[in-house]
Amino acid sequence: MNPSSTHAYDRARPTPRALATEAVHAGRDDLARQGLHAPPIDLSTTYPSYDSRGEAARIDAFAADGALPEGTPLYGRLGNPTVARFETALARLEGTESAVAFASGMAALSAVLLARASTGLRHVVAVRPLYGCSDHLLTAGLLGSEVTWVDPAGIEDALRPDTGLVLVESPANPTLAELDLRAIAHACGSVPLLADNTFATPVLQRPVEHGARLVLHSATKYLGGHGDVMAGVVACDEEFAGRLRQVRFATGGVLHPLAGYLLLRGLATLPVRVRAASATAAELAWRLAADPRVARVHYPRIGGAMVAFEVHGDPHEVIAGVRLVTPAVSLGSVDTLIQHPASISHRIVAEPDRHGAGVSDRLLRMSVGLEDVEDLWDDLDGALGTDRRSRGSVSAPGPARTAGGRPPVSRPGGR
Ligand SMILES: *Cc1c(COP(=O)(O)O)cnc(C)c1O
Repeated sequence: MNPSSTHAYDRARPTPRALATEAVHAGRDDLARQGLHAPPIDLSTTYPSYDSRGEAARIDAFAADGALPEGTPLYGRLGNPTVARFETALARLEGTESAVAFASGMAALSAVLLARASTGLRHVVAVRPLYGCSDHLLTAGLLGSEVTWVDPAGIEDALRPDTGLVLVESPANPTLAELDLRAIAHACGSVPLLADNTFATPVLQRPVEHGARLVLHSATKYLGGHGDVMAGVVACDEEFAGRLRQVRFATGGVLHPLAGYLLLRGLATLPVRVRAASATAAELAWRLAADPRVARVHYPRIGGAMVAFEVHGDPHEVIAGVRLVTPAVSLGSVDTLIQHPASISHRIVAEPDRHGAGVSDRLLRMSVGLEDVEDLWDDLDGALGTDRRSRGSVSAPGPARTAGGRPPVSRPGGR
């Protein structure tokens, strides 16, 4: 086998390594042997071959099961060595056999839906809330799928002979509602469960350990981690990965090699970034919960760097009032972002569906970055405005204190 092929380093290692170690080394195991330190970026769209009989056989093999062709790469839409490094690394972190990268999170979800629909399994069972565009893709039936929206308890009853997928997010975008993935995987029976793990990242949760067959990421968010690369990825078993590669080859939603490089670099710091931002987010969640200007705070049990909160006042004024925090959609970057889901990320979801999913018009979603917690709090405090402000006032009503001296934070459980 050619040492520079995409296969040289994608076999499972015998000794399991800790997540922090994998984050830095996975997908790079062959570099030192090649006399390299940073991974090479292969920008080739095509690759020379003097053996067209051999190429015919490799293309037939790919058409059969979607396994990456052995040997040198063939064409950029089939696979790219730099992107393959990222796929290898993400599969290691999620504990799956394989991973398949796409041009965006939505391209990744589209490929999953097409892979199922192409076998006649067009029906999808899904739990709200989902990321707004995922909700829209299913609701609009753009890819020929038909969706049944259910509460987690209704999944089993909603399954039909043509159900090809159960789709959930936990913690969910934007409410941070958490689901019992193990119970849901059990209810799915033989129908593949896709868990969108964008918010948790493999640092906080590995859905395959709870029985999910497919793990989806908008790699645009935490995996890239710096707000400068759009990408999506599905981590799964090799059988499903083969079908996803075939769909990717046929429909063309490939990831650019430079993006693959940036994602691999992002993964190296993923555990450090997620843990640091989560500590800050937890502290901000407590402070917001103690603030009389804030009606409700959502922060997941498993932690994370996302905080959602509902204000008593006008949420648009909070967005207009931030100075250090950036008022922008997206999440998972090194800097803190805040947005109003009802106006932006979930605008495309019809209002009754949005409200039914717990996305209130007063909800703000904040992606906490790596800034100092006091600077962030100063900014939020100013942006929350003077309405009902309690600062410096001993008579202002405060929320009930728990025994530990901490105010209660709403931790949505069931849905
Ligand atoms: C952003 C997001 C997506 C879509 O990903 P893109 O990279 O923007 O296409 C899917 N799921 C979740 C949970 C997201 O936050």
